[in-house]
Amino acid sequence: MIRNYRDLTRLEMEQVDKKETIILIPLGALEQHGNQAPLGTDDIIAEAMVKYLGEELEAVGEKDFPILAFPVIPVGLSTEHKNFCGSITFKPDTYYHMLYDICVSLAHHGFQKIAFLVCHGGNAPVVQILSRELRSELGISPFILSSGAFSHPDVKATISEGNIWDFHGGEMETSMVMAVDESLVKLETSEAGRPEAFMQNKTLLPYGSVSIGWVSEDWKTEDGRPIGIGGDPSGATAEKGEIILRTSAKVLIPGLLEIRNWKN
Ligand SMILES: [Zn+2]
Repeated sequence: MIRNYRDLTRLEMEQVDKKETIILIPLGALEQHGNQAPLGTDDIIAEAMVKYLGEELEAVGEKDFPILAFPVIPVGLSTEHKNFCGSITFKPDTYYHMLYDICVSLAHHGFQKIAFLVCHGGNAPVVQILSRELRSELGISPFILSSGAFSHPDVKATISEGNIWDFHGGEMETSMVMAVDESLVKLETSEAGRPEAFMQNKTLLPYGSVSIGWVSEDWKTEDGRPIGIGGDPSGATAEKGEIILRTSAKVLIPGLLEIRNWKN
């Protein structure tokens, strides 16, 4: 089990080895995930990943692994989802400075190893720039772990046949939420999303239609309504979610061991 940063008292925190302990900061998002999955899908997955990482560390004999889980940052960069009801987003510079300030506080207390657990792809570019700056300005060691081993064969094997566009709000993410709490998913309302702009361009451009930038309205249902998800969630199950979460945690273990062995 990974201990939560917020659960420690001040006196307990004083005893923590700041040089060796990794602060794991899970980065979520609060954005639409189709008709069927909750707005907090990425936050729910982020929380679950911390639990699974703890179990996988124990499975490789790392019971006292030096790590503390920071509270999940519940909002991220979700500009592309902002026109869908309920989506909340930071501006990139707000997000950058918010994370920067957290890291300054952590460094002020002596922490030197910070690992961002990216649980929403939209957050990744800011975290990459931020990590360089933190290293250069504060002399600490930031690391980036990407949650979601979507290309792993065990994960790919969970996707229903023909569901070729699955990523955001699709079968995989919906399954992961179901593994945590099935009651949060309303699968009977699900509709599939297809990448209309990508198809017109005949290529996978992450920023799609140039004039307006990539917006999730480009992902549409079969009959052309914006749905803002990639893939078909209808085949999602808790069992699949368990495999995806477990596999995603497993593939991060070698990286965590490397961070532990990293000497500043
Ligand atoms: Zn998501």
